[in-house]
Amino acid sequence: MTQQRLYVRLLMAVTLPLILVTATLWPVLHVHLETRQESIRAETRAIMQVGKDTLLRDIKETLSYALAVAEMPIIKAHMIGENGEGVDSSTSAQLTGFLATLIEHYPRYTKLILIDNQGSEVLRAPVGITSDPRFDDYSHASTDYFKAASQLSARDLYISPPGRNLQYELFSGEVVPVVNVATPIFEQGERQGMVLLSLNWQHLTEAVQQAMLIDPDAGVLLADAQGGWLLTEGSQRLPMIRFGDNYARLAAEPWQPVTEQDEGAFTLGNHLLRFQRLDIRSEAYEGLTGRIFSQDDTLPWVLGVSLPTPTWKSLLQDEAIVVWFLLLTYSTAVALGIYWSISRHQQRKLRREAQQQATEVSNLYENAPCGYHSLNADGVILKMNQTELDWLGLTRNVVGKRSYRDFISPDSLPDFDAAFQDVQAGRQGEAECTLIATDGHERQVVIQGVGYLENDRFKYSNATVFDITERKQLEEKLRAQAMTDPLTGVYNRRYLQSQASVEMSRASRHQTPISLIAIDIDHFKHINDEYGHDAGDEVLKRFTSVIQGLLRQEDLLCRVGGEEFAILLPDTPLDKAWQVAERIRVAVEQTQVPIEHDDVPVTIAITASFGVTHIANGEKTLKAAIKRADSGLYEAKDAGRNRIVLQET
Ligand code: GH3
Ligand code: MG
Ligand code: MG
Repeated sequence: MTQQRLYVRLLMAVTLPLILVTATLWPVLHVHLETRQESIRAETRAIMQVGKDTLLRDIKETLSYALAVAEMPIIKAHMIGENGEGVDSSTSAQLTGFLATLIEHYPRYTKLILIDNQGSEVLRAPVGITSDPRFDDYSHASTDYFKAASQLSARDLYISPPGRNLQYELFSGEVVPVVNVATPIFEQGERQGMVLLSLNWQHLTEAVQQAMLIDPDAGVLLADAQGGWLLTEGSQRLPMIRFGDNYARLAAEPWQPVTEQDEGAFTLGNHLLRFQRLDIRSEAYEGLTGRIFSQDDTLPWVLGVSLPTPTWKSLLQDEAIVVWFLLLTYSTAVALGIYWSISRHQQRKLRREAQQQATEVSNLYENAPCGYHSLNADGVILKMNQTELDWLGLTRNVVGKRSYRDFISPDSLPDFDAAFQDVQAGRQGEAECTLIATDGHERQVVIQGVGYLENDRFKYSNATVFDITERKQLEEKLRAQAMTDPLTGVYNRRYLQSQASVEMSRASRHQTPISLIAIDIDHFKHINDEYGHDAGDEVLKRFTSVIQGLLRQEDLLCRVGGEEFAILLPDTPLDKAWQVAERIRVAVEQTQVPIEHDDVPVTIAITASFGVTHIANGEKTLKAAIKRADSGLYEAKDAGRNRIVLQET
């Protein structure tokens, strides 16, 4: 049962701290997580700004570059010549070299071409690239930029959607996506042709990605209005996607919200995706005076960045200190809980044992074979064990109300008071007393007490009370045995000796007479011989009982020998003693002792002889008186027995 309780406590000791610690730490950790998430949101905003700036800066530079070329007088002059009186070949070669130099210095451009109003290529750089005969007439070719730029006003610009460069333009054998920028060349109010500048799109997107991928876990998204993938590398979340693939189809889940808002952020799995729609035509490019055109259905583009959002898992992975803190807090809480439950268990056990011991001690105190009590200075009972309460026939109500002296016999009180005085002085006290119970029953006890003092003032006593009634009775019995004859129950010779001196001194003190009778049964030997020893014993008993019935309380009948007796008669003169002897003689003579002899009931008749004497007041011992009585007795025997002989002093 207690083991089961321990387990329940242990379970509580483990779960309760876990719940408490969690309840306390949860809001703190939650705020910590939210702060981290907010910082991720801020980070995506900053990255977006950097990416957008990089993209627009490169596009603006490209547009400015195309415009600058279209504005160059040498180019304008050359185009007028091409359209009119012609150009000399040295100027043409010079210009070709110039354009080639321009392109070589700016590796982010793949080609620069001048085209006349009819769509014929006039000049191109780099010079190594040969024209494809199928496309030397741009008016017939499906080149969007030629068609668009042919209708643009001066300083207007056309930007093509990013697309792959044409096969014949391959310089190093590598397919490079490009953006074609075209702007018309006007001179003397006339359209003289156009400039076509191809921007290496891979170059640009790498710069954008480099600017945005500050976090190794970040992913960059760039797609046109139709969902065409515009980056030349895959995304972090879609590594297989290639430039031109349909992102809208491959990643419909993130694409849908992107088409519904101009900008925003949403959580995608464990990533936060921030996006912004970007129309390169409407962006305010400083320093550009004209308008910008492009293919309507591909704009605006969508630029986005995704960063992993912090989760509980990532938070714990990243911040080992948090984990250690949590582990430490939880384990401390659990350890404290377990310690608490075990110590509680131990305490209960100890308390139970202490209670058990206290009960045992109390039982021992209450039911000891002796009495215990405590008294105050006035002798009033402060405490008393059940044994003594039972002895006195009291209940516990007596405590504080009755004095212990009330239960002590008057003849014991002096002894008790003397002992209690010792106890009050701080000494041990002992008294043999008689206790009187409420029903009058007496009990002989020995009370052993000790006093407790505080600053030399008595506070209370503790006493042990032993019942010595039985001992007293035994003593009494032994004492009686010592002075009586076991066969007849009358006093023995020793008692006669001792008591005679008492009676003799009293008689001489009070001047009263005192007499002695010596008795001997006649022919007793004959009785023994005739009927056996037991019959003799029976005669002795009957003989004494007959005599006893004729004596006063104060007369002492003693057996002084086998069938010899003596009677001390205080306050009795000789003549009175003679009368007593005569009464006895007659009674004995008339006594028939019934016995069984050989299983036959018979009666024995007996007689006795008497010597009677008076004890004088001056006599010190009984010796002389006995001698006189005995001599009277012998005379009676000699004279024929069954008679009394007086012996004067
Ligand atoms: P007499 O008349 O001269 O006194 O004769 P007697 O036979 O009474 O005297 P005696 O002294 O010769 O005998 C006493 C006898 O008493 C001897 C002894 O065996 C017997 N006797 C003494 N004590 C006891 C006793 O306690 N019980 C019994 N049954 N006999 C006892
Ligand atoms: Mg005799
Ligand atoms: Mg005799």
